[in-house]
Amino acid sequence: MSRPATRNRCPVCSAATAAAHAPFCSQGCRDRDLLQWLGEGYKIPGPAADPGLDSAGDRD
Ligand SMILES: [Zn+2]
Repeated sequence: MSRPATRNRCPVCSAATAAAHAPFCSQGCRDRDLLQWLGEGYKIPGPAADPGLDSAGDRD
């Protein structure tokens, strides 16, 4: 049983891996994986970290 195409799969979208972007299939998936990895450690800040803060600063 030899399934060469099944061996290398993109961990993000499970598409066939591209040698240029191994182990991913494209630069996009490479970035996505990186962002997800960072998200686990940094918990990308949400839009409302502090409801009391006026981020716009254009109240008056
Ligand atoms: Zn992919």
